[in-house]
Amino acid sequence: MAVLPAAGQPSFLARALLAWYPRHRRDLPWRTTRDPYAIWLSEVILQQTRVAQGLPYYLDFLASYPTVHELAAAPEQEVLRHWQGLGYYSRARNMHHTAQQVVREFGGEFPGTYAGLRQLKGVGPYTAAAIASFAFDEAVAVLDGNVFRVLARIFGLHADIAAPSSRKEFQALADQHLPPAHAAEFNQAIMEFGALQCTPAKPDCLFCPLQSECWAFQHGQVALLPVKSKAKAARTRYFHYLVLRHGGQLYLKARPSGDIWQGLYDFALVETDSPELPATELLRHVAALGGSPAPSTYAAEPRPAPALRHVLSHQKLEARFHAVELAAALPAVALRDTGLRTYSDAEIETLPKPVLISNYLDKHSEKTAGA
Ligand code: SF4
Repeated sequence: MAVLPAAGQPSFLARALLAWYPRHRRDLPWRTTRDPYAIWLSEVILQQTRVAQGLPYYLDFLASYPTVHELAAAPEQEVLRHWQGLGYYSRARNMHHTAQQVVREFGGEFPGTYAGLRQLKGVGPYTAAAIASFAFDEAVAVLDGNVFRVLARIFGLHADIAAPSSRKEFQALADQHLPPAHAAEFNQAIMEFGALQCTPAKPDCLFCPLQSECWAFQHGQVALLPVKSKAKAARTRYFHYLVLRHGGQLYLKARPSGDIWQGLYDFALVETDSPELPATELLRHVAALGGSPAPSTYAAEPRPAPALRHVLSHQKLEARFHAVELAAALPAVALRDTGLRTYSDAEIETLPKPVLISNYLDKHSEKTAGA
């Protein structure tokens, strides 16, 4: 059974992880910097995606915005465009706001303590602990999914890691085992150990240096830990996009607040409770915008459009795109009420868009350009 460290002595966990880490660590660019801005960028991106997918985004953000000043001064649309493909765009907007807060309230310097970092909008306990320990050597333990899993298995903790109340117990344990003189390395090591050795589905218990101390291994409960209650089932939404085109240009609009993809650009949207949108309904929606389809629309699109499926964290989208060539431009009142306006292909390329829309445009670019 695992025991707590004696005062001043690194615990068995710290000793094992600090010995394991140098031999197994991956070389990642954010591990070689002490710049809190670069560390913060990497953490925000890695909360969103895995290392392999996040790496090009990290390099792109650092190249485009080498310091927090450039990021803060960038237009939001441009930041969203760089973020495109990572999903969960409110995180990109929060990141942008945080950069502006650092410049406005702290003169462009990230606060140098955990408590100071927590004052920043959108910087939660995990990110604050990561920056405080990696950039400033503060002895505060990080707690992410990997750390929860490693601690739950080694110490046999059965608390539900999805419950906010469990956090205190895990944080206290992680803090107890964190060696103050090696805070950054311990934090990196325990996360890397969770990512490479003590993985969710197939942990490498056979060659694990903590096998003899690991409660879950010793009790045959590795597959049962950590305990995590199931998230609510994702709801399905049916999107029907009216891909309105006139004079060689497409109508798009920025998405409003209060729903997914705020500030990203998509087409006129009709959302329904069922997958189908009958042709008569489609025409009714076009007419409600003051539009009338050109005769070529009927000739070119006689069949219902196939659905594209897109999965978000809590929603499944089933989207159909209905290409409509308009006989005349939409009236000004419709543009004012909906925010729609025409964009050329070159302009569309620069707009931040949900991946669903980008994929559609990529697939249909020849078709739409030639229409
Ligand atoms: S023995 Fe298995 S479950 Fe326990 S810490 Fe090692 S890899 Fe994880």
